[in-house]
Amino acid sequence: MRRWNGWGDDSIHYPLSEIAQQYLKERLGEAQSIADMPIEALLPQIPKSRLPKHPLVNYDPRQRLLHACGQSLPDWIALRSGRIAAYPDGVAYPASEVEVRQVLAYAQQVGAAVIPYGGGTSVVGHINPLPDSAPTLTVDLSRLNKLLHLDPVSQLAEFEAGVKGPDLESQLNAQGYTLGHFPQSFELSTLGGWIATRSSGQQSLYYGRIEALFAGGHLETPRGNLDLPSFPASAAGPDLRHLILGSEGRLGILTRAVVRIRPLPEAEHFYGVFFPHWEGGIQAVRALVQEGIGLSMLRLSNAEETQSILALSGKDRLLPWIERGLSWLGYHSTRCLLIFGVTGRKASVGRNARQAIAICRRWGGLFTGSIIGKQWRKSRFLTPYLRNTLWELGYATDTLETAVPWFKIEETAQAILNALSNGLQGSDERVWAFAHLSHVYRDGASIYATYLFRRSGDPYTDLARWQTLKKAASQAILAQGGTISHQHGVGLDHAPYLTNEKGELGMTTLRAICQAFDPQGILNPSKLI
Ligand SMILES: Cc1cc2nc3c(=O)[nH]c(=O)nc-3n(C[C@H](O)[C@H](O)[C@H](O)COP(=O)(O)OP(=O)(O)OC[C@H]3O[C@@H](n4cnc5c(N)ncnc54)[C@H](O)[C@@H]3O)c2cc1C
Repeated sequence: MRRWNGWGDDSIHYPLSEIAQQYLKERLGEAQSIADMPIEALLPQIPKSRLPKHPLVNYDPRQRLLHACGQSLPDWIALRSGRIAAYPDGVAYPASEVEVRQVLAYAQQVGAAVIPYGGGTSVVGHINPLPDSAPTLTVDLSRLNKLLHLDPVSQLAEFEAGVKGPDLESQLNAQGYTLGHFPQSFELSTLGGWIATRSSGQQSLYYGRIEALFAGGHLETPRGNLDLPSFPASAAGPDLRHLILGSEGRLGILTRAVVRIRPLPEAEHFYGVFFPHWEGGIQAVRALVQEGIGLSMLRLSNAEETQSILALSGKDRLLPWIERGLSWLGYHSTRCLLIFGVTGRKASVGRNARQAIAICRRWGGLFTGSIIGKQWRKSRFLTPYLRNTLWELGYATDTLETAVPWFKIEETAQAILNALSNGLQGSDERVWAFAHLSHVYRDGASIYATYLFRRSGDPYTDLARWQTLKKAASQAILAQGGTISHQHGVGLDHAPYLTNEKGELGMTTLRAICQAFDPQGILNPSKLI
């Protein structure tokens, strides 16, 4: 069953070895495990629904609790402490476009706010109802989960938009195809959510971001519906798909989407390369993408993250040998790990891997074969479960990300890490921060930072600490000219920073578009804008 106050399936655990726990203590200090509020204690506290009855709406407190929060750190603090700011007044589970229309009509009639809900994996407050607002109806799209049509000639597939990653892939794989969109939240996130947040999958280098995969679809709005036909390309004015991409539930409910699919790859491999230092790794990764080597994934960890991957890997007996071996070969504490992937035809993946290895060697790269890559592949969707373990041990963790051109990469990464590492000096608390480059482009890359700090035992203190860190890192990103989000979206948490990026005229335009689709402003109020 899905965990109600953490990540993933409650039968899956990610234990940490003694050595890994010791490593955490050294970085952050001794932490204490603090009891969470049990669901039985929380359910009776949920206020009565303010919505009038409708046959498509569920008013059960448990369902309302399950849709009250996403997966951000503030969400976790709220869920685990029982201090939840607001609950939806009801949850609808439409099973057809007609039912989506009925639910929207009902919301308009009763003056309810509507929150489209995919998998609820948002990490920036996209799906949270607002306190002191109109009654809120969350529209959970999980019953809209079918493959409607597959066109093998054009390699297009039409899905209902509430389909989750594994269901989407298994329906395609059964016919020999893949979408290839694998965000780390793949297990629970949905096609509609990916489109509405402009998501990026781990192999976007090969398959493309969701912008490249989303070919068309159907949107239900308070003003009627919008059909987005799928063309291979079109010069017929601005592309309306780009209004829907990143619309965060503000313009309507996406009920169907046509996506560009590919035959399942004949071969796929992931490999590990160590660089003596971060700068060399960055040069290599830039060269790999700018020289057009056919790779499917590049993930370059900085030295701190490389060390943490090794320390938390659970390979306690091997670790001293690995460390000694790497040092002996000249890869000391500044070493950085690159994992790269090759995907596609058998004939090309070997050639692409060889070209990549040759370029990495130019920058001092030590090719270590496929062991690390295999391990990465095995745990690629399991790593989020580590968050549950860390929390239970007494540590809070969060991530944030941006993208900047290559010439700003090192400086921006350092500015973010400094802002995080020094962010809690005022309260004499340590923060452990590290970063990697994952999504790479010819002109730049995304920087993805992870940070941990000890839970204090008081949810208000933990939330205040998160706010301090988030603000410091966001300001560092803005000061460097980075985007406030490369892949997580805007939601509530990044909304204060959006004007800086879009400008006044840009914001006025976005508001006017929302007004055109949703004159009463019932759709996901205060998110994005
Ligand atoms: C552990 C973890 C790892 C993650 N890894 C990645 C990653 O690798 N790459 C990445 O891009 N993101 C990642 N995310 C963030 C998150 O998974 C993405 O933003 C994802 O796209 C959200 O999809 P969802 O279906 O869960 O949407 P939700 O969280 O349910 O909703 C997100 C937004 O989309 C809107 N929405 C959802 N469905 C629809 C619809 N059908 N019509 C209209 N609006 C809709 C909602 O109203 C909301 O504003 C991660 C999150 C977690 C918790």
